[in-house]
Amino acid sequence: MRLAGDALEYLVPEPDPLLQLCPACGASVVWMVTPMGVRLPLSVASIRVGTDGRRWAVSHVADCPQAGTWRTQRKRRGER
Ligand SMILES: [Zn+2]
Repeated sequence: MRLAGDALEYLVPEPDPLLQLCPACGASVVWMVTPMGVRLPLSVASIRVGTDGRRWAVSHVADCPQAGTWRTQRKRRGER
């Protein structure tokens, strides 16, 4: 991961990440798993190709208009 502005970007899984709709706002998200084993939704709208030729996206937790919903769920499940 790396910083883009103030938002963390994550590598988009290749070749075919699992595409779903955000249950909170309906935006398209793809799922990746962090090195710590936590499933994390990435905003499809934020996907861009980096200078390394790989695809990067911002966590949907960061740009979801209903982000409070995600944070609440994460807290409730006891994840960091
Ligand atoms: Zn959302």
